[in-house]
Amino acid sequence: MVKVLIDQETLRKRVEELAREIEDYYRDKTDTIHAICILKGSVHFFSDLVLNLNMNVKYSFIHVSSYQGTASTGRLQVKYWIDEPIQNEYVLLVEDIVDTGLTLQHIVKQLKKQNPKDLKIVSLIEKTVHDHGVKLDFVGFKVGNVFLIGYGLDYNERYRNLPFIGYVEE
Ligand code: 5GP
Repeated sequence: MVKVLIDQETLRKRVEELAREIEDYYRDKTDTIHAICILKGSVHFFSDLVLNLNMNVKYSFIHVSSYQGTASTGRLQVKYWIDEPIQNEYVLLVEDIVDTGLTLQHIVKQLKKQNPKDLKIVSLIEKTVHDHGVKLDFVGFKVGNVFLIGYGLDYNERYRNLPFIGYVEE
């Protein structure tokens, strides 16, 4: 049975707040950012977040996968990488959820090689289970050790289109 952890209204409000925090950070720096969506899980968060940002936003996409079922395989597969330069740009990396941090560590390392002027990370959810070692600049919600679904997050490609974040109770 699917249980709700973060309902639609709470998500909407927090995403709006995050957008204000992000605008505050960039206000005296730039009026244009390059937002990178990490597919597939971030698709709804990315979309709702950039729609709330009152500035110019370029879009790019990265598609990686490492999970099978509810466990990380530890191997990261890059299926699609950004196809436009980020050199000298203000880059905002938009992630759905950080668990072990391995996915972000890999992506950040590769992106830094492309010489952005500034690289910030926003994650909708941070799991507090691991000391993941990634500096997250903006975080929506912190959760414990639970496998989440919905609002883009899947369990073997199911549940992504639930409008809330929840979990499956056996
Ligand atoms: P990490 O590399 O930090 O362990 O995991 C990051 C990626 O694993 C996320 O982008 C997401 O795709 C997936 N992931 C981690 N925790 C969860 C979870 O609770 N639910 C789902 N559906 N995916 C997760």
